[in-house]
Amino acid sequence: MSLFIDNDCKTDDQQQLRNAIVVALLVVVFITAAGVIIFWERQVQPLDLALLFGMYTLNIFGIGLGYHRLFSHAAFQTRAWLRALLAIAACMTFQGTVTSWVSHHRAHHRYADKDGDVHSPNLHGKGFWGKILGLWHVHLGWLNKVNWTPPFPYVSDLLSDRVVQTVDRLYFLWVILSLLIPTIVGGTLTHSWEGALRGFLWGGIIRIVLVHQVTYSVNSICHLWGKRRFATDDQSTNSLLLALISFGEGWHHNHHAFPNSAKAGLMWWEIDLSWLCIMALERLGLVWNVKAPTQKQIELKRS
Ligand SMILES: [Zn+2]
Ligand SMILES: [Zn+2]
Repeated sequence: MSLFIDNDCKTDDQQQLRNAIVVALLVVVFITAAGVIIFWERQVQPLDLALLFGMYTLNIFGIGLGYHRLFSHAAFQTRAWLRALLAIAACMTFQGTVTSWVSHHRAHHRYADKDGDVHSPNLHGKGFWGKILGLWHVHLGWLNKVNWTPPFPYVSDLLSDRVVQTVDRLYFLWVILSLLIPTIVGGTLTHSWEGALRGFLWGGIIRIVLVHQVTYSVNSICHLWGKRRFATDDQSTNSLLLALISFGEGWHHNHHAFPNSAKAGLMWWEIDLSWLCIMALERLGLVWNVKAPTQKQIELKRS
């Protein structure tokens, strides 16, 4: 497979690519399960968890700050090098290029929980089995149904964005790098092949599975169960647990009410690590034009 993705190329064989993605993810899940079983016996070491948590943090900020708040919603502006860094951190999650992710996400907002929403859990029948089918769809099924190669709708702004196009073209390089970094760090710090393998497993494969499930849980759980406070035209909800592990993305109902806001946690107690990060970057002069609703706008929307 080429390291490069050409956003101008057109392919008639989308299905082959979709199948390859699903097979690759199933292999990744299988390796994760096997790895956890094998290494549980030999005990998880602090370095394993440090590599897992370090790469996880980088990836979750890449998705939340980069793919979502910056590239999908232009909730703030920043310098070219920071845009590139956030895009690369998100590419490392193996969730698709900037352009494909943003295209799918903008379709989700445009048709939220209606025909045309690529990953709604609410379009698969009523009752218990409808929900089970919905969960299956959001966590795996939709990956086999959407387009992964151009042309992508709703992303005309990104097609002329040089940073995005350059990062996208090197997509597989970032994915491979995300597996190599924890492998090399693990091997170097322990001076052993077992350390390298542990790094690959915990900082590479298990981390990818974990980040996928957190991202897809926001799309599934936050459209099925949780609390609502605004009369939005969808079934989005807020989830404290998901907000904590996704660094703020779990305030998904707030986000549907104010999609262009850089701030998802709207109440003082709604912890939103990504928003804290944006505020810190703004203080440092690295981001500007940060969008957030006023208290009055929030109250008006509640009534
Ligand atoms: Zn949503
Ligand atoms: Zn969004």
